[in-house]
Amino acid sequence: MIANAIVEAIRLAVTRIPDDVVLALEEAYGREESEIARFNLENILKAIDIGKTESIPVCQDTGTLTFFVKAGVNSPFLGELEDAIIEATRRATEDVPLRPNAVDILTGRNSGDNTGRGVPIIHWEITEGDEIEVAVLPKGGGSENCSALAMLTPSEGWEGVKRFVVAHVKACGGKPCPPVILGIGVGGSADLSLKLAKKALLRRVGEGHPNERIAGLEGEILGAVNSLGIGPMGMGGRTTALDVKIEVAHRHPASFPVGLVVQCWANRRAFLRIKPDGRVEVWQ
Ligand code: SF4
Repeated sequence: MIANAIVEAIRLAVTRIPDDVVLALEEAYGREESEIARFNLENILKAIDIGKTESIPVCQDTGTLTFFVKAGVNSPFLGELEDAIIEATRRATEDVPLRPNAVDILTGRNSGDNTGRGVPIIHWEITEGDEIEVAVLPKGGGSENCSALAMLTPSEGWEGVKRFVVAHVKACGGKPCPPVILGIGVGGSADLSLKLAKKALLRRVGEGHPNERIAGLEGEILGAVNSLGIGPMGMGGRTTALDVKIEVAHRHPASFPVGLVVQCWANRRAFLRIKPDGRVEVWQ
C-alpha cells in the first residue's frame, strides 16, 4: 500500500511540474523580449502541458530519485519504509515509465530499474509523532553536473558566496537547461552544505526565505544571475534563473562552506504523508 502511494507520488512528480514553477515560467515568457528566448520558453511550457495532459514525463531524463523523509518515531510504518521506497522505485521505472539511470560505477552496467548501491538516495530525519512525510525529488543529470562546492574562508563571507555562485552559473552557460532554480546551502560542512542546497529545492518558487536577511541575499543573487544574459536554454535572454533558495547551518570558525545545486526548469517534486492508520495524502 505504501509502495503504491510512493509510485503515485513519483508519477505525479515526473509528469506534472508544480503550479508555482509553471507560473514563474509564464511570467518569464511575459518579460522576455527576444524572439529566441520566447521560443524556448514556449517550448518548455508546451512540454509541461503535454506531460500533464498525457500523463507522460516532461523530460526524457527522469533523473535520480531522491527522497527526503521526515519519519515520525512512533509511526507503525517506519520499519518497512526503506523497502517500500526501493520497491516503488522499481515499479515506477516500469509503470510510469522512468528512464533507467542507475549505472554501476565500476562495470558501467545499468541496473535497469533505478536502484543500486546508494540509489535511490534517501535522506532521513527522525521527528516526533506518528506520521511520516516523504518528499520526492527526481534530479536531472545535466543540471546536477553543474552543481558545485566552494570551501570559502570566513573573510570571504557572503560576498564570496555571491561571487562563487554567479561565476559558476556563468561558466555553466546553457548546460543545465536554464532557466534554473539555484539551491544554495551555506554553513555546516562540505557534505551538509550540499544536502541543504538540494533540500532547498523543495521550497516553492517565488517564496523567499522566512528570514528577511536571507531572503534579501536570495534576491540579490537572483538579480546578479539574471543580469548574465544566458537566458532560456542558454540562447540569450533575461531569464537565466527563476529563483534562488538559500538554507543555512552554523559553521566551523575556520570554514565557510557553500554547496550549490543547480536545478533545471524541470523542477520536479511531490510529497506524501502516511498517517498511522495507513491513510496516505499525496500533493505537490
Ligand atoms: S537538465 Fe533537466 S531539462 Fe535538461 S535534460 Fe536533464 S532533466 Fe531534462
